Amino acid sequence: MLRRRKSRRRGRRYGVVAAALGLAVVLAVAGWATMHAGSSGPTPVPSTAGVPMATIAGGSPTASPTGGPSPTPAVTATPVFATPAPSYPLVDSCNPKSVRSAIPVTAPASEKAGSFTLHVPILMYHRIVPSAEAGDSIPGLVVPPDTFAAQLDAIKQAGWHTITMATLANDLQAHVRPPDKTFVITIDDGWDDGYTYALPILQSHGFVATYFVIAGRIDQAGFLTSGHLQALVAAGEEIGDHTMDHVDLAEQPAAKLPYEIDAAAARIAQVTGRWPESFAYPSGVVDNRVAAAVAACGELRIAVTEEPVAPEAPGATEPPTGVPVALETWADRFVVPRVRITPNTKPAYLESDLRLLAAG
Ligand SMILES: [Zn+2]
Repeated sequence: MLRRRKSRRRGRRYGVVAAALGLAVVLAVAGWATMHAGSSGPTPVPSTAGVPMATIAGGSPTASPTGGPSPTPAVTATPVFATPAPSYPLVDSCNPKSVRSAIPVTAPASEKAGSFTLHVPILMYHRIVPSAEAGDSIPGLVVPPDTFAAQLDAIKQAGWHTITMATLANDLQAHVRPPDKTFVITIDDGWDDGYTYALPILQSHGFVATYFVIAGRIDQAGFLTSGHLQALVAAGEEIGDHTMDHVDLAEQPAAKLPYEIDAAAARIAQVTGRWPESFAYPSGVVDNRVAAAVAACGELRIAVTEEPVAPEAPGATEPPTGVPVALETWADRFVVPRVRITPNTKPAYLESDLRLLAAG
């Protein structure tokens, strides 16, 4: 119910489909504000198979210690040995020592000199599942697997390749310019179709994604299990923090924020064996207080919002467009808007929008 209410609100805010694929994504870097600008799927259904960008100011390349394009290991079954998420103790801390079994986040040296700008489109998906299996999810958030595959087909055929949010953070921090036609795919909310439907499609295209998981729903019916998450990590996908309960953080008392942000990160670390370094604000809602709470989690290095708010004109037939706004600036960390992809996002238009976004 909560999801439905929030989604309706989002629907009003962003309205039309292919929401603003005409956005430029911006990034705030190290003190620099740039502006500028659920349900259960059945078994895996292999088939065939993201947009903001980041803007930063220039430096020298450094190797990216985290993330990065990864191989495409076969993921065919859910491990049965995974410890269920609820079995782990609640850890209300982002100190890596609080979950010693998990690999802490490492980051490349920060390159702060000069001016460095990246335009890397970031696509935002929610569910990749046949409509008939989507339950009461908002239709605009449900992309059927064949549509997802067609969208990725168009992007792949045009020569694009993916990196994860973590790798984008590395590139931004070290001032590494990724190859042309680099983009990011994100999948929010942790529905189990991210494993059953999305993963095989991603793999058949040689793409990786960042999955923003709601930690409190891990192992719940319809959502990714601990075993799924471990398999996703083994496959080279990134698991990011999307809070514990997917609440509107701006409405939460200060005392609740560490639970929603830090405990969620720790829970993901317990389950996957890796501390998450990317964060997605539920429903894109963020204010200064919330941003500070997220920034206080030392492991989180990059956060994503949704599309910039662009009022939908009455009777408009085109998606709202506009320039995204950098909502905050973290020291050595980054905030990036994304572009929502819907079932109505036409593959050919999507690819051309990627080109526009990448061109800045
Ligand atoms: Zn969400």
